[in-house]
Amino acid sequence: MYGQDRVKEVLELVEADHRFSEIFRKTGVSRWTIRSWARGDLPRRRARAQCAVCAGSPNVPSQGPYAYLLGLYLGDGCISSHPRGVFKLQIVCCNAYPWLIGECELAIAEVLPNRVGRVPATGCTVMSSYSKHWPCLFPQHGPGAKYKRPIQLASCQQAIVGRFPAPFLRGLLHSDGCRVLNWVNSTAYPRYHFSNASADIRALFGAARDRLRIQWTPNNAHNLSVARRASVAMLDEFVGPKRRVDLPHFDGTYW
Ligand SMILES: [Zn+2]
Repeated sequence: MYGQDRVKEVLELVEADHRFSEIFRKTGVSRWTIRSWARGDLPRRRARAQCAVCAGSPNVPSQGPYAYLLGLYLGDGCISSHPRGVFKLQIVCCNAYPWLIGECELAIAEVLPNRVGRVPATGCTVMSSYSKHWPCLFPQHGPGAKYKRPIQLASCQQAIVGRFPAPFLRGLLHSDGCRVLNWVNSTAYPRYHFSNASADIRALFGAARDRLRIQWTPNNAHNLSVARRASVAMLDEFVGPKRRVDLPHFDGTYW
């Protein structure tokens, strides 16, 4: 079992673009384990009663799923307080894309292994999980809609999004984005759109894309788009389209 210091040391070397074989020689951690950590599959802490933040760790476990869940939370999530210091995380998932509901459920369970509930609503399913630690993990929790107040990432969140910009973008796009086909002279050109009323969240979206060198342009006050072929191809590698929506009146929007 590797300690958090060893995990941190390895991730810093990965981030500095050291080769896995070189990191193995420096740290003694196997290349298979390094590759797994680099993907975000970090070792679980033994004590799961506390969250990583309360335990004083600079790294939450399962950083890849955390980055994805952070994107979902900033897009379509909220945290509400309940009696005895308990909080409920809710993520709204559209019923048209059931595989995304499953992915959301897995991400929540990875980040905090409490029971994940599904509440059916009109056209959507609300995923929920109770814990005292959701505000520790998502300090953006606060009164009022997210677009009406400043949304800044804590330093540990910035580090995670810096290491895992792809799952973060995936979460943002799964909640507030879509992939559409733009038809020009009978040829379909795929493009991505992202829409959010919060300028801060749009800036986070743009920063993650800049980190991956994905070109984007503002469409209007609340919308950004990715239309360059190379950038769309990069997003296709980790966002979509992986499964086409099989609806009777499919309009070219994948999710
Ligand atoms: Zn906590």
